[in-house]
Amino acid sequence: MAEHKLPKLGTRVRFPSPAPNRAICMVMSLFAFFKLGCKKIKIKILDVLFPPACALCKTALQSQQSVELCGNCWKNLRFITGPYCKICGLPLEYGDSGQTCLGCIKNKSCFDCARAAIVYGGTGKSLILRFKHNDETRLLKTLSNWLLRAISELPLKNGEAVVLAPIPLHWTRLVVRKYNQSALLSKGISMLTGTPCVFNLLKRIRMTKSQGRFGLNQRRLNVKGAFRLKTKYQNSLYGKTVLLIDDVFTTGSTINECAKVLKLAGAHKVYAVTVAKTDHPQTA
Ligand SMILES: [Zn+2]
Ligand SMILES: [Zn+2]
Repeated sequence: MAEHKLPKLGTRVRFPSPAPNRAICMVMSLFAFFKLGCKKIKIKILDVLFPPACALCKTALQSQQSVELCGNCWKNLRFITGPYCKICGLPLEYGDSGQTCLGCIKNKSCFDCARAAIVYGGTGKSLILRFKHNDETRLLKTLSNWLLRAISELPLKNGEAVVLAPIPLHWTRLVVRKYNQSALLSKGISMLTGTPCVFNLLKRIRMTKSQGRFGLNQRRLNVKGAFRLKTKYQNSLYGKTVLLIDDVFTTGSTINECAKVLKLAGAHKVYAVTVAKTDHPQTA
């Protein structure tokens, strides 16, 4: 009796396809043609109703595009491509990405490493400020795609289980701002990658002053003890990798304080990704 060979895993098994019905093929082709036409008409109507313009300088753009920036504004974006500090992701003038910057040598961090997509300045800074303070949440798609670039620079292992978590806002600030920009970015990344996001993993338990004019030491003091792990997750972080998401990395004080809480709860690794990072070292 002839022995039946089983197909190896990964090989494609072909099934005999039924003879095509010409009438069905014609209807399907017409339907596909109609669908394509509708899509083009929809874009044209949108272009007429809402003329596409650069998100920053309002220069007219040719058509609705995924990245709403004109050539001039695009030129003022500085993507971080390396070399950068292996801990905080600070762009370095020379060398390779295996080095540690002076700031990270002087001040040990609780997070394992942080990466950002662009340098905080010019077009990138304006976009983030609009996204954060001007209700311009339509920029989410563009910023989430940039965050993906930063995530691809993390030393994540293939198949590593990761939990996304946004940096929380204090509820009083959330009432004023109406949304948490970090939570929106986390949602964007979760939708693009299918990675689970725990929006309330951390809680900001006290109001902190705006960090804007503070130096590193003042920033670290300002956020000290400001975060707590939500009680129901207290026994569920052991051995897990947490990916903190935020808009800007300045001195890393807020991210560091959050990472401290997560590590105390047993997190194996804490990484951070931000859309942008300031390009000056923090040594004081
Ligand atoms: Zn522009
Ligand atoms: Zn560094």
